[in-house]
Amino acid sequence: MVEGEIDSAQAALRRAEEAELAARRESQDRGEELVSPLADADDRVIESALRPKRLSEFTGQVRVREQLSLILQSALRRGRPPDHVLLAGPPGLGKTTIAMIVAAELGAPYRVTSGPAIERSGDLAAVLSSLSEGEVVFIDEIHRLARPAEEMLYLAMEDFRVDVVIGKGPGATAIPLEIAPFTLVGATTRAGLLPAPLRDRFGFTAHLDFYAPAELEIIIRRSAGLLEVSLTDEAAVELSRRSRGTPRIANRLLRRVRDYAEVRADGVVTGDIARTALEIYEVDEHGLDRLDRGVLDAVIRRFGGGPVGLSTLAVALGEEAETVEVVAEPFLVRCGLLTRTPRGRVATAAAWTHLGLEPPASLGEPPTLFG
Ligand code: ADP
Repeated sequence: MVEGEIDSAQAALRRAEEAELAARRESQDRGEELVSPLADADDRVIESALRPKRLSEFTGQVRVREQLSLILQSALRRGRPPDHVLLAGPPGLGKTTIAMIVAAELGAPYRVTSGPAIERSGDLAAVLSSLSEGEVVFIDEIHRLARPAEEMLYLAMEDFRVDVVIGKGPGATAIPLEIAPFTLVGATTRAGLLPAPLRDRFGFTAHLDFYAPAELEIIIRRSAGLLEVSLTDEAAVELSRRSRGTPRIANRLLRRVRDYAEVRADGVVTGDIARTALEIYEVDEHGLDRLDRGVLDAVIRRFGGGPVGLSTLAVALGEEAETVEVVAEPFLVRCGLLTRTPRGRVATAAAWTHLGLEPPASLGEPPTLFG
């Protein structure tokens, strides 16, 4: 590349980084709730300290871990970058952590950007053309990539090549540019939105699921060790049950009950302290937050239990449809409080009971929560 192009590539890279920071700040502003799975500023500082660095330290997601371990080992043996990896699942379940682990296990440099940060294909070209051999590129929220960037990515993923368009209009020419072989790790909270050609270019797709309480308990104990918090077994169990199946929330609740224990007690987090602190922070016994309860409340009290369409529901709550769909719904569906039907969202008998209401006879007996 000539000097001017390098300068503009670097400027584009800086723009991409700034946009990414802005996007992160925005999602952080939305994540001020105690049990929101979105990261806030406090989380991000602590998270880097609590993040497992290697696959062996990563708890849960057993099948994904095993498959990933095979892929990475075989790549190392062949001395070639592994297939591109797509990580799908709700926020806070470990997608960024896995991307960093992929780089660490391969001993490769790691670079991070996100779909909303890449506004133009030039932004992506700047990132891709400056990669070193074997680098791991993490694109968070890959479903939000702009169309032209997405098309550029197809070629890059498949042939390690980008076409840089020079000039405008009829005189424009595409100059193919070789790029170093790299591994793309894409993360999405909405796998369904990814166009098939992009989805198909990932050799491995992992769907991350909510964690079982026993797994969260291990994560909470590990974090407590790192943060030097003393925690009784009973408290670890209590926190794991109220963490909404999400490690990010587990770590956040741990920090809040630690604060409470330090101010109101002798610093040791016991079961009683955990329960009292969580009551103060309005986390209910299943870890449902205000948005979750708001969704159930609206479906039941305003729409007679449903079915109600997503956009109608979002308007009733004064929330973005995407927030309801990505943040609240997956967990409510997972714990059997909400079902998705072709005609809309329907509250289950368990949801009525959870709100202290008598379920309509048509719904039958409520099953026990969490099966
Ligand atoms: P996502 O990218 O899916 O939103 P992250 O990878 O940022 O989620 O995870 C959020 C936090 O939760 C991390 O900082 C890490 O401390 C913790 N975490 C996630 N998954 C695990 C896990 N399997 N074991 C231990 N901690 C985890």
